[in-house]
Amino acid sequence: MTRPGKREGISIGSYWEASVGIIKEDRQLVGDARFDVAIVGAGFTGLSAALRLAEAGVSVCVLEANRVGWGASGRNGGFCCFGGTKLSETQLIKRFGLDEAKRFVAYQIEAMETVSDRLDRWNLDVDRHSEGEIYLAHRPKDYAGFAGYAEYLRGTFGIGAKVLSPDEMSARGIRGPEFHGAMHVPFGFALNPMKYVQGLAGKVREAGARIYAHTSVDRFEKDAGGWRLNTRHGSVRANKVILASNGYSDEKTPNWLGGRLMPVMSSVLVTRPLSDAELNEQGWTSDLMAADTRTLLHYFRLMPDKRFLFGTRGGIFETPASLDAMQRRGRADFDRMFPAWAHVEAEHRWHGHICMARDLSAFVGPVPEMEGVFASMAYHGSGVAMSSLSGEKVADLALGRITQADLPAALSKPFRKFPFPAFRQLYLQGAYWWYGLKDR
Ligand SMILES: Cc1cc2nc3c(=O)[nH]c(=O)nc-3n(C[C@H](O)[C@H](O)[C@H](O)COP(=O)(O)OP(=O)(O)OC[C@H]3O[C@@H](n4cnc5c(N)ncnc54)[C@H](O)[C@@H]3O)c2cc1C
Repeated sequence: MTRPGKREGISIGSYWEASVGIIKEDRQLVGDARFDVAIVGAGFTGLSAALRLAEAGVSVCVLEANRVGWGASGRNGGFCCFGGTKLSETQLIKRFGLDEAKRFVAYQIEAMETVSDRLDRWNLDVDRHSEGEIYLAHRPKDYAGFAGYAEYLRGTFGIGAKVLSPDEMSARGIRGPEFHGAMHVPFGFALNPMKYVQGLAGKVREAGARIYAHTSVDRFEKDAGGWRLNTRHGSVRANKVILASNGYSDEKTPNWLGGRLMPVMSSVLVTRPLSDAELNEQGWTSDLMAADTRTLLHYFRLMPDKRFLFGTRGGIFETPASLDAMQRRGRADFDRMFPAWAHVEAEHRWHGHICMARDLSAFVGPVPEMEGVFASMAYHGSGVAMSSLSGEKVADLALGRITQADLPAALSKPFRKFPFPAFRQLYLQGAYWWYGLKDR
């Protein structure tokens, strides 16, 4: 799963790649090397962990099967927002209790602040925009529920959500035939994820960590000398290992991952720049990042260069036929939701893996029965902020600076195996069919 798919080379044709131009290539690992800590995966998680460790004076390397940002970190919608779970606030309270639910919400806010602080400190230009996020009711009954939900978020979690009527939405340049009302949440912002991940990698290199590209870890072994990670042209010995391979993990690297993760496809299209006349015709001129209230949600935003990004969830299989069908569905949804732009070409389309787990929440902690191995993964499709903070936290765990008790309970449960793992994708397909019916 970590090698470029049949339909994509190392370049996946995304708008993000085009927007950054040349992407720095790190060299491949050839021969044997020794580090205190080895990290598998050079996305936000692995690079955030590497930076934390290198800044603590630890010798650390990142082993990446492709190149920096090749996985979800260089493919996502760029929503730096709440995330890391598919559980609602009510489900979090039911499962972990009110105090832990509040702690997890505070962690998500800290995660967004972590990204924001980095951008400021590093003076990184990542085309940032959007003050918070807007949720759009795709049915009148969802709009009717917003007032109570906003009150609940304010009263229980101190989140100052604000409901917008259709007239208020229009006045703010948010309009479409399927949007019956909105709720604005004043947290989060949007960014160009490739610019962010490349900037982060630059800081990792500066701090003295090694990034090896085109270096897939194929096998884990443990002996008296610690862990040995075998790659095609060499190996790394390390006392500690951090797994940061998320939705691109191989089920056997290490074996513990087998049957515990569920990669799911999400696809994105980006239009050519829209003219002012086209924006006004649709009635969408806002720079707020937005998502609708469907379980199989759409996420979209008008970017600073006036291109429109539109993302969909719901693909399960990565076959050419399944990917084509997902892209066609995405385009049909876009045309329906933004009819004035039905003629507008999408200059870029791509897809990527988001990562789900059986308990519908991320895990940040030590891997059971693999002493010295830690993992941080499964952000359930909202990991820009979560992976940035959780990468730091998993490094702190490896350093012994914090313990699991310092993290919210919602992140502390190691992944369980899915029942009948070989049929995971089939029963997810059943769930999607059901969500599709519920979303009507
Ligand atoms: C299309 C799409 C849209 C999304 N939109 C959003 C969004 O708008 N907002 C948001 O918050 N989140 C979004 N997400 C999710 C978010 O991108 C991820 O949660 C986040 O990037 C995860 O980062 P990561 O570093 O953990 O994993 P990744 O970025 O996926 O990195 C994992 C890396 O591990 C490497 N790897 C895997 N196995 C091995 C191995 N054996 N050896 C060496 N290397 C290996 C892979 O090549 C890959 O580069 C989206 C995801 C997708 C796919």
